[in-house]
Amino acid sequence: MTSETSGARPILIAGAGIGGLTAAITLARAGRQVAILERRTRVEEAGAGIQLSPNASRVLVGLGLGAALSRAAGEPERLVVRSGRNGRVLSEMPLGDAMRRRHGAPYLLVHRADLQMALLDVARSDPNIRLAFGRTVSSVDTEGDEVSVAVEAAGGPETVRGSLLIGADGLWSRVAPAIGDHTEAEFIGHVAWRATVPAEAAPAALRAQETGLWLGRDAHVVHYPLRGGRVVNIVAVMRDRDAARGWSRPGDPAVFAARFRGWAPELRDLLAAAPEWQVWSLFDRAPRQTWAAGRVALLGDAAHPVLPFLAQGGALAIEDAAVLARELARAPQDVPAALAAYQADRRPRARQVQAAARQNGRAYHMGFPLTVGRDLVLRGLSGQGMLKRYDWLYGWKPEGA
Ligand SMILES: Cc1cc2nc3c(=O)[nH]c(=O)nc-3n(C[C@H](O)[C@H](O)[C@H](O)COP(=O)(O)OP(=O)(O)OC[C@H]3O[C@@H](n4cnc5c(N)ncnc54)[C@H](O)[C@@H]3O)c2cc1C
Repeated sequence: MTSETSGARPILIAGAGIGGLTAAITLARAGRQVAILERRTRVEEAGAGIQLSPNASRVLVGLGLGAALSRAAGEPERLVVRSGRNGRVLSEMPLGDAMRRRHGAPYLLVHRADLQMALLDVARSDPNIRLAFGRTVSSVDTEGDEVSVAVEAAGGPETVRGSLLIGADGLWSRVAPAIGDHTEAEFIGHVAWRATVPAEAAPAALRAQETGLWLGRDAHVVHYPLRGGRVVNIVAVMRDRDAARGWSRPGDPAVFAARFRGWAPELRDLLAAAPEWQVWSLFDRAPRQTWAAGRVALLGDAAHPVLPFLAQGGALAIEDAAVLARELARAPQDVPAALAAYQADRRPRARQVQAAARQNGRAYHMGFPLTVGRDLVLRGLSGQGMLKRYDWLYGWKPEGA
């Protein structure tokens, strides 16, 4: 990849994940030239699903991805919360039409690979976006009004110059040191096991168009249908001492089955139907003090990982992208001011969502007798009451929308 030699420098984005691609599309729509540097040689997502709540789907629909998402994604009718021990329903929250009516945008269930492809298709067809795969950002320098990024590539080191750099490079961000943050994410003592099960192998009762959430001591399980109901996606989060940095590793089904021995039979039948498991160690970090300095800013997990107890990490990255593009449009000649305004807008929101995810984690994994109080509260909440509880989260809109 050759760096620009004349004219306006492009905006550089490190990382073509959900956050980086959404930021690129949003900025390109505003007429900006964007170059994405992605470490992987091609983008493919592990076989797992993602829930996209209205705060995120609203942004994607606004970018013209509505048709692609309605082809690829499903809309659950409800969230059903059950006791892991005996399968008793503790609470239900309407999703589907109720979400659309309340928030004007859908609550979606989509395979990560399908979401990634939908974003990539839009990015590839936009003349303002250049995608460079097999490029690992290794260090960053700012000189005057440009950033200079050192990149590792198969053909040897490269230097790429731009007007600013957005670090959308995930939990282990290599861009973060450029804003003076050298802290590392920490293992939280939990792992997530993920699998997809062919629908015909899943118990009939757990194949419905709904998200199931099962709560138990030190563990919980979430499942939902994907790809028109042909597969059921499962995520089980549990306490575990062994951390492995990086993406995923295979999990032993026998170890997994032993862990859920005392749980409700229909859930165990679903878990037993999984042909293979992939295990992710879960890492968190104290909120970063700084997300932006000069001409460099962080976005998505690089700025604020969110534990998967609220299904919001990807959603927050999408929100970030919308706000970043808005602030750069407001102050196109003053990049440091625009990035500072982006940080000021986003940091309180991210902190609130991170804290709510941690709080959910504590509530989901409670043991007896604390469960008595928790379950009483859950049983006392009507569907409308549950919806109301999350208005602050799902009702988010980019200013002016
Ligand atoms: C078990 C689990 C379930 C989850 N469920 C949900 C959910 O239902 N809903 C939801 O909204 N969120 C969910 N999340 C969170 C969500 O997956 C993440 O928050 C989201 O993927 C973050 O997107 P990102 O673009 O910031 O980072 P990433 O997806 O991590 O993308 C970073 C990209 O940067 C690239 N990269 C890394 N380093 C470099 C470098 N040095 N140079 C160039 N490129 C680089 C990577 O290859 C990658 O493509 C879940 C997470 C987990 C673990």
